[in-house]
Amino acid sequence: MDKPVGNKTERSKSAAANRATRPSRAEAEAAVRTLIRWAGDDPDREGLLATPGRVVRAYEEWFAGYKDNPRDYLKRTFEEHGGYDEVVVLRDIRFESHCEHHLAPIIGRVHIGYLPRNRVVGISKLARLVEVYARRLQIQEKMTAEIASCLDTVLKPHGVAVVTEATHQCMTTRGIHKPGVTMVTSRMLGVFRDHAETRQEFLSAIGMRGSIHGNGSG
Ligand SMILES: [Zn+2]
Repeated sequence: MDKPVGNKTERSKSAAANRATRPSRAEAEAAVRTLIRWAGDDPDREGLLATPGRVVRAYEEWFAGYKDNPRDYLKRTFEEHGGYDEVVVLRDIRFESHCEHHLAPIIGRVHIGYLPRNRVVGISKLARLVEVYARRLQIQEKMTAEIASCLDTVLKPHGVAVVTEATHQCMTTRGIHKPGVTMVTSRMLGVFRDHAETRQEFLSAIGMRGSIHGNGSG
């Protein structure tokens, strides 16, 4: 887990590396044409002519999360809320992401809880935090842990709880073809990990009482 201090240098280094290696739009479109041919179709037929351009624009939207640093974002928006000492829960934050193994959609919901120390962040910022991580190539376990770790690092609360429920289209539309299967992952930090009562308070708030234990990913 990296600390906020020193992040700037790391980030600009990797951003520079990314700019140097990032393909041009024309190269990205050519890659889509190759995949169309690989699928068995003709990228020059009328219905497919504009497809590479559309796919590349869709990628800009689906993967917009690489441009943002969620930690900076949260840091800018926290508010002092001295005296509030109850668990804050935001549930059913819908997200759309893509699995890094197949580039297939992952669609689901994230539930976030935290016990503030002094800082409370606006609920729209929590939803935004989920979106930034979702709009990257992901595996669900990593995304769940990243959201928890970011909140923990920036807000320094007494604890953070994150539960993600999602369906993976690489499971439902190919491979083992299991529609209706939902994957649940969780990350519990601080009081949510150490105190069963606080964890249960969060789990019942999101309607999952008793189903998740304190030892990290579930
Ligand atoms: Zn996959």
